[in-house]
Amino acid sequence: MDIGLNLSKSKELFEEAKKYLVKGVNSPVRYFRPHPFFVDYAKDCYLFDVDGNRYIDYCLAYGPMVLGHGNSYVIKKVMEQLERGTLYGCPTEKEIILAKEIVKRVPSAEIVRFVNSGTEATMSAIRLARGITGRKKIVKFDGAYHGAHDYVLVKSGSGALTHGVPNSPGIPEETTRNTILVPLNDEDALRKVIKENKDEISCVIMEPVMGNIGCIPPKDGYLEFVREITEEWDILLIFDEVITGFRLAPGGAQEYYGVIPDLTTLGKILGGGFPIGALVGREDLMEHLSPSGPVYQAGTFNGNPISITAGIATLEQLDEDFYRKTFRSAEKIYKFIGECAEKRNIPHCVNGVGSMFQIYFTDGQVLDYESAKRSNIEMFNRYFYGLLKRGVFIPPSQFECCFTSVKHEGEVIEETLRAIEEVFKKFQ
Ligand code: PMP
Repeated sequence: MDIGLNLSKSKELFEEAKKYLVKGVNSPVRYFRPHPFFVDYAKDCYLFDVDGNRYIDYCLAYGPMVLGHGNSYVIKKVMEQLERGTLYGCPTEKEIILAKEIVKRVPSAEIVRFVNSGTEATMSAIRLARGITGRKKIVKFDGAYHGAHDYVLVKSGSGALTHGVPNSPGIPEETTRNTILVPLNDEDALRKVIKENKDEISCVIMEPVMGNIGCIPPKDGYLEFVREITEEWDILLIFDEVITGFRLAPGGAQEYYGVIPDLTTLGKILGGGFPIGALVGREDLMEHLSPSGPVYQAGTFNGNPISITAGIATLEQLDEDFYRKTFRSAEKIYKFIGECAEKRNIPHCVNGVGSMFQIYFTDGQVLDYESAKRSNIEMFNRYFYGLLKRGVFIPPSQFECCFTSVKHEGEVIEETLRAIEEVFKKFQ
């Protein structure tokens, strides 16, 4: 398979990598045919590979790099922290500073627990909800991805769906039996499930904008509906804002849509390019977590000073201008994608919210898992490889989301639009 780029060094590294790493990668979405490019370094909106190719990056490490790569202020602060020690296993003032910033911005946040990934955050949130309510069942949406742990790897999006295993072997049926699935944007389906399982459901967990099956926003009023029905039945509502947190607004999707959950999970942007996750929520709920309460959660690297420092330095830079710029550049791109596809009668549905967007090659709206799966994957692959060849890197899967950073502006956008136009021309 020739994708029209010189990737000879990447190919060599891939052959070597395969000897030591599963399919040469450490996370499934990173693999694509015939092999991924291997990164040499990254700066601003660009990735540079070992063969000297330059890509405009709309993957942004699957979301975190909102300031672009190699932000000099974050690097400076992290370097200063490195000199002072990398891990203490004892509390620091910086944890308070970052927790305060979260509480200030995120409406549902009164108390914070830092963990190391989005996966840990959702796993802990679900355990907490079960521990508080004493109920086993959870409700999850088809195609939503909440990380790679057993409670939620059921009809999951992201790499699990891309590689054809939305339900993973190795997870006991007893575990997933307690995970009830519903389609997004369908009020009746959720109402029915809640009525049928009343007094057994601990929580509903959702991505307020689904970002692991492309990009699927909630229909008008849908989040309000979920909030009302969970409140009515005394079920905890968890917003998984690992992607949307700090991206759609300082307070994430809950601020953007004005719907406040009981618990929220955060990650990605919060770590400024270093590993992090956080579980946040109302004090009366969070105090059930150990050591305050009996629901166990712990971690050697929780609140580690490097991630916390990078997080503080990142949030400091997310001002109004940041939101204006990232939204504007994303909108310019996704509108253009829609126009190009329309002009050439290519079946398409382009979804975009704030600085998140994706195209599906299908007629009709994409508003849930089933409609997303209707996208023509062969067309998506042509689109992906066409862009790659022209120096534009989007996530290598229909079931991921594109992002803009504050460094995507001016000529970078124009170059992207030209690449998109050329790719669509080749579709005919
Ligand atoms: N929740 C959501 C919404 C995510 O997008 C992701 C990662 N893509 C996770 C949870 C898991 O986060 P991590 O990869 O940091 O474990």
